[in-house]
Amino acid sequence: MLSTMQDFPLTIAAILRHGTTVAGAAEVATWTGDGVRRRTYAEVGERAARLANVLRGLGVDADQRVATFMWNNAEHLEAYLAVPSMGAVLHTLNLRLFPDQLVYIAEHAEDDVLIADASLVPLLAPVLPRMKTVRHVLVVGEGDTAPLAEAGKELHSYEELLAAAPASFDWPDVDERSAAAMCYTSGTTGNPKGVVYSHRSAYLHSMAVSTGNAFALSADDRVLPVVPMFHANAWGLPYAAVMAGADLLMPDRFLQAAPLVAMIEQERPTIAGAVPTIWADLLRHAVQHGSDLTSLRLVPCGGSAVPEGLLRGFDEVGVRIVQAWGMTETSPVATVAHPPRGVAGEEAVPYRVSQGRVLAGAEIRLAGDGDVAVPHDGEAVGEVQIRGPWITGAYYKGDDPDRFQDGWLRTGDVGTLSPAGYLTLTDRAKDVIKSGGEWISSVELENHLMGHPDVLEAAVVGVPDDRWQERPLASVVLREGAEVTAADLKEYLAGRIARWQLPERWTFIEAVPKTSVGKFDKKVLRRHYADDALD
Ligand code: ADP
Repeated sequence: MLSTMQDFPLTIAAILRHGTTVAGAAEVATWTGDGVRRRTYAEVGERAARLANVLRGLGVDADQRVATFMWNNAEHLEAYLAVPSMGAVLHTLNLRLFPDQLVYIAEHAEDDVLIADASLVPLLAPVLPRMKTVRHVLVVGEGDTAPLAEAGKELHSYEELLAAAPASFDWPDVDERSAAAMCYTSGTTGNPKGVVYSHRSAYLHSMAVSTGNAFALSADDRVLPVVPMFHANAWGLPYAAVMAGADLLMPDRFLQAAPLVAMIEQERPTIAGAVPTIWADLLRHAVQHGSDLTSLRLVPCGGSAVPEGLLRGFDEVGVRIVQAWGMTETSPVATVAHPPRGVAGEEAVPYRVSQGRVLAGAEIRLAGDGDVAVPHDGEAVGEVQIRGPWITGAYYKGDDPDRFQDGWLRTGDVGTLSPAGYLTLTDRAKDVIKSGGEWISSVELENHLMGHPDVLEAAVVGVPDDRWQERPLASVVLREGAEVTAADLKEYLAGRIARWQLPERWTFIEAVPKTSVGKFDKKVLRRHYADDALD
């Protein structure tokens, strides 16, 4: 028997309609370096309609891809709302990718129109001529666009086109399962792969991150997505904020600790999401300058493991970090690490440093070699597999089909699941260290090392070893002026991990190489080691 309920589609247009009318007085504030540009959601709604008219005028009349090459700002939000709502597909380009990868993904996605910030023209100019499918470029803001002239594209001023366009748009009915937006993985192995979000997946993900077991978003919140809108949709925060009627505070290109702290003190966000390295810088700056971060009631942090020291450091300044885990393929938020009911203080720390519990709607399981089920006993280690309405079931154009099986995504992350549902990652599958047949968790070693007061960053990789096949190599960045030695660090670790796991190879470096999205680039560390070993 079918239900009697309306089959009302879950679409970005529905988020847009609600957010820009019922929540029309909420605002998006974009940092300009020394102040803010403010726009209400009602104004954003009108400008989104103008943008849709502009794009229609440029020939976007179906599911063409409209790419963005932009920081987090009000105009990027306008594209986020307008492009999917008119039935086209938003493709957020990760401006930190290598030029060849950018060209590859623009071509793979067949981007038709590109919206770019004027401040990014110098970065765009060398790659634009190679983006063969792009016909039109809309430049947002003031700046010299001359370097783009040679690319053979039609160049336009975003503001001029919007000003000349009608202020309303008849948003079409769109199938909730159709493509709304796409995002490429950062390609740490091989070419980047495309993930295509549907209207339905974006809508349900927005609802999921707004629940109390995630970030509990409401119209009382002011949300600061430091995580870029070109990286896994800024963890879904923009759509979730518009849906909740929460204000959005956009940092634009001012992503260093000093301007971020200034923005936090002036604009008083209640929620701010960023990767651990950003928060570590920001905390150091805030402690040094006695800055006030207490407007923040919750700081979602993820993208890589949250070191315990970071979590405690924020506790000390009265701000609660909550760890979340996910990936581009999972929209991205899948688990959130709130402690169980009634568990607080010191007792809560082991739960908070885990990757957390899966949000209702998604399901996770562990699989061992040959896809044998691994028990969820908090001890046995297996690959994390996940399924759910905001988890991708394939890559665009069918790339890498081996990552999908029986309706589950193989995440490539490895860890344990406790009987209470807490996921603890021990590694990425490609980073595990196998020493004499036993696994050593690089993440655990890194977390302990980064807990040492003189260690700023630490990355551990497996390197070939004649006797044990592989042994850990620790690359450590010390705080300025610190004088600890490898022997000191080894002794520090000795009380915390099993002796056979202690690294005997150490290097002291100035900074850990990072990927385009700020994660430790272990590929580069391994390569450095191999090169040195050849000398
Ligand atoms: P890419 O896969 O292209 O590097 P993503 O941002 O999608 O980019 O990365 C997702 C990966 O980041 C996860 O598979 C996981 O390995 C890692 N990750 C994300 N959040 C966490 C976390 N809280 N703890 C540990 N690792 C994390």
